[in-house]
Amino acid sequence: MAFEAESIVTLCTSDLAGQVRGKGFPARDLEKRRKFGVGWTPTNSMINCFGSIQATPWGALGDLILTPDPDGDVRLDYDDAPVEHFILGDIKTLDGQPWSCCPRSFLRRALADLKAETGLNLLAAFEHEFHYDAADDRVGDSYSIGSLRGVEEFINELIGALRANGIQPDTFLPEYGPRQFEVTIDPADGLAAADHAVKLREITRALGRRHGGHVSFSPVVTRGAAGNGVHIHFSFTDDQGNPVTYDPDGPGGLSRQAASFSAGLLRHARALCALATPSVMSYERLKPHSWSAYWTNLGLRDREATLRICPVPEDPSVDVAKRYNLEYRAADAAASPYLQLGMLVYAGLAGIREELPAPIIGQEDPETLSVEERAARGITTLPQSLEEALQALEGDAKALSWLGPELAEAYIMHKRGEIGMLKGKSTDEICQLYTEVY
Ligand code: GLU
Ligand code: MG
Repeated sequence: MAFEAESIVTLCTSDLAGQVRGKGFPARDLEKRRKFGVGWTPTNSMINCFGSIQATPWGALGDLILTPDPDGDVRLDYDDAPVEHFILGDIKTLDGQPWSCCPRSFLRRALADLKAETGLNLLAAFEHEFHYDAADDRVGDSYSIGSLRGVEEFINELIGALRANGIQPDTFLPEYGPRQFEVTIDPADGLAAADHAVKLREITRALGRRHGGHVSFSPVVTRGAAGNGVHIHFSFTDDQGNPVTYDPDGPGGLSRQAASFSAGLLRHARALCALATPSVMSYERLKPHSWSAYWTNLGLRDREATLRICPVPEDPSVDVAKRYNLEYRAADAAASPYLQLGMLVYAGLAGIREELPAPIIGQEDPETLSVEERAARGITTLPQSLEEALQALEGDAKALSWLGPELAEAYIMHKRGEIGMLKGKSTDEICQLYTEVY
């Protein structure tokens, strides 16, 4: 060649659609770009998951800057293929202020408000399930070691690539559904935890493609089979880093603040769905008895509760306070992890502000309770469609106020546009489309 090939770096945002989009530049300009970023446009936020802008509050107007975060880098350094290097960042106004519709800045604000008002730091870990079409689909393979065969290189490179990018893998397993897998990682501070979720999804997709298959995190890939959930585990520490989620004398072991936080979460769970389970397909997953979530309940070790108190080994050598955590199950990977976690934080913070008592901790399927018993416990169903979730958000003045008027308007417009594009399509066609894009 009469020239040398040059690699690029892509500066990215994980956007309202939960998609990672950005602009690249020659890798040799990296230091300059770390300082000045790349230009960005408000209406880019209205590109929905199908790559279409159905409506926009801004039109062609406005300029923003996408600036890289010092912890935003992902490098996939292959021996036998060009490096993939992207950097996550924040969208700012030209004078360097966080832009009102930047999802990452929204989470930053939520975590700062939590800290300022309560002294709490949030630790979180996003647990992901996904479908990999290069794996075998054999009858009876659920959880079976056989389903790992033939995809070992993909799995091994995935684990190595996560670690090389500062994400500590915890488990990798064949899941219940056909060609379904799960990967869990160690908890991290709130913003880093959401960054890890974004990075993990892209790393998994990149390696899946490298090994000849398509990874999909879409909430439902195989209709009638197990869905792909995102389960958000969280706990709190105080200023000194001490765990403060657990109190042996609290209901279910919840500390006073964790109890109120849980109550706030469940009170706003219907509105949260608009951001945490934000696709038309998400509601095919949130069906009763599908081990996802259906009722707005807090369950002790109940894998169908919206909020679950996770088990801790009952062994004297175990520091229960350190291990104790909650799991929010009404979430999936069609969402921006920043919007998901930010809304979770604000809903929980609202519960702490109001000093809400702990929700009643059920040990039974809420379906077996009478209508009156459910009402007495404040248990209702989650929305049954994205449109219902958007209406729940519009009807929840507090939830709207956490987003702020500009982000709320843009987000709802974005999602209604997405719904509109699917009108007239069959559920199978919709399933196929989401499988491709997530
Ligand atoms: N696949 C289920 C979901 O959609 C979760 C199964 C499990 O508990 O791991 O959330
Ligand atoms: Mg699972």
